Amino acid sequence: MRGLSLADRIYLAKYYEHDGSMAMAALFGIKHQSVNGLVKRMKQSGEYELYRNMTEEEYEKNGVNEMKRCQMPMCRGVATKSWALMGLCNQCHRNIEKETNLYYSRKIQADERIFHKRLQTAKGERVI
Ligand SMILES: [Zn+2]
Repeated sequence: MRGLSLADRIYLAKYYEHDGSMAMAALFGIKHQSVNGLVKRMKQSGEYELYRNMTEEEYEKNGVNEMKRCQMPMCRGVATKSWALMGLCNQCHRNIEKETNLYYSRKIQADERIFHKRLQTAKGERVI
């Protein structure tokens, strides 16, 4: 397998338990067995714990890219798609696509576009 950059290894330690090895494998384009092997080695060397205990400031300084996370408020899924320049996970992307179709076919009103409104809020508050 190709080696992961420092930022990617830090990202892995930060989100491995939340996302699981399959999502990480897809994100980095490596086999999930390789992800598990790498995590095991990082745990043995102490690297894993070190990265997990970093502050948000340290994550940022080390180039951990939060754009890889779903930007929908309350969702921390892996962003695999994008919508209006915002990274979204599969589920949120499906939700907002469905809602937008309903809106443009006039089946729901503007104030019923819950996901759209949530995303607008996130966009306004985004500090990244
Ligand atoms: Zn999401």
